Amino acid sequence: MAIEQRGRLIIVDAGLMFPEPNMYGIDIILPDFRWLYERVKDIDAIVLTHGHEDHTGALRYLVDRVKVPIYGAPLTVGFAKHRLTEAKLAGGLEFIEVADGERRKIGTFDVEFIPVTHSVPSAHALAIHTDAGIIVHSGDFKFDLTPIDGRRSDVARLAALGDEGVAVLLGDSTNAEEPGYTASEATVGVALRRLFLERPHKRMVVACFASHIHRIQQIMNIAVEQNRKIILLGRSMEANVKLARKLNLLHVDSAHLEDMANIDRYQPGQICVICTGSQGEPMAVLSRLARGDERFLPVGPTDTVILSSHPIPGNEWTVGRVIDDLHRLNTEVIHSGREAVHASGHARQGELRTLHQLVRPRSFVPIHGEYRHLVHHADLAMEMGLPEDRVWICEDGDVLALTESGLRRDGTVPAGFHYIDGTTGDLDETPLSDRRMLAEHGVLLVTAGIDRATGNLAQRVVVTARGWFEGEREKTIYAQCEATVNTALVEALAAGERDSAALNKIAQKAAGRTVGGRFRRQPVILPAITIL
Ligand SMILES: [Zn+2]
Ligand SMILES: [Zn+2]
Repeated sequence: MAIEQRGRLIIVDAGLMFPEPNMYGIDIILPDFRWLYERVKDIDAIVLTHGHEDHTGALRYLVDRVKVPIYGAPLTVGFAKHRLTEAKLAGGLEFIEVADGERRKIGTFDVEFIPVTHSVPSAHALAIHTDAGIIVHSGDFKFDLTPIDGRRSDVARLAALGDEGVAVLLGDSTNAEEPGYTASEATVGVALRRLFLERPHKRMVVACFASHIHRIQQIMNIAVEQNRKIILLGRSMEANVKLARKLNLLHVDSAHLEDMANIDRYQPGQICVICTGSQGEPMAVLSRLARGDERFLPVGPTDTVILSSHPIPGNEWTVGRVIDDLHRLNTEVIHSGREAVHASGHARQGELRTLHQLVRPRSFVPIHGEYRHLVHHADLAMEMGLPEDRVWICEDGDVLALTESGLRRDGTVPAGFHYIDGTTGDLDETPLSDRRMLAEHGVLLVTAGIDRATGNLAQRVVVTARGWFEGEREKTIYAQCEATVNTALVEALAAGERDSAALNKIAQKAAGRTVGGRFRRQPVILPAITIL
């Protein structure tokens, strides 16, 4: 999101998306930054609400061209700085740490950082004071009244802003379909403690997000209570724990931490492993344990693996496969479908209503969520009394203009997706749709040779394919295809066509007609008609 005033811009968060299963070869998806690049001279800062990847993960692509100060809580900028340093991109960048409740002049704006609870510590809502009124951006939040670190959402400040008058509220919509209230993070600790207590002789392996410092804190507390040594597995787990301890956001005595190399010195019941990979990421620790290829920790019947997480939509299948693989190793697996070992970081309807009541905005824009979540959050805002013409459902690229008379639509800017392929770099939509066709329909190669002098077929039409049928059926299809292409080429040649590009096109079309019409397939067809 970019907010502009008097020709100057600030960017709020710069996140990435993870690909859907049919986005073959795509590692991550970024917002299309073209419009920001055009305005690069006008950008004053990047303001981060919190340290999750869907809010900071695109920074390493953005800061390449947009070199401006990055503001956020110490942990938030700490996470970002670590990732940028790893990518050797942090050089020359300015990271500015802000404290809870701090109000800062950033560019032409006054930005206030209001504490909110979420599934990562130090999350902030923003109050952006502008010439045309106050914009409140909820960030990702829930109202957890018993947070692990005792740092509650500053509802008093949100209410005070409501008293002052808020022009626009931008609100997290992730759980807008869910009635009631999101469980406190503390409830997860209760469930985990019971599961640990019931298994005194098991080695407990808990997978969770490496950024979920409060979850890690609770797991560590339970391990310490039960005299288990704590072993951290996964690069991001180790790095995040180190940073959070340094910032005094995670408390554990070094004596309780043990090195993976020493694991065999202990009985299973004396060990608690905390690892990454709760989303089934193939290269993360949990998947590797499930495949049995982690050198130091062969999991088996003496282990209980807890997935202290919920699959992000799209990851269900990969997570399911990891759970299956663990069962194959005779390992007990506990996940959020079986026990309350996870709590969401996002507000449900009850908390969203509270937010609306505290802020009482003149206009509302639902943000953060799939389209259906935005619609449900918009409905909730109207239930809370906002007239329909003050509620704006926006999609990527939509522009809103805020004036003293209110909010209105103001056109669009380019803001599509930008696909990143780990091996080849940037991609746009074309190669991706080719990959989809290759995966779903295979490829067909059509070859023939034409005698330039006579205009006759010097080499007969041959069709070969990959990703098609097997055996006799395949031969029939190829023969039909070859016959159609042959007829089409002979006709064109008789009519005097000698242009290689045109003949290739004709062959491609003829082959496409056969497979598309008779067999309802749309393979990628590669014609190779050579004029000899
Ligand atoms: Zn988020
Ligand atoms: Zn988040």
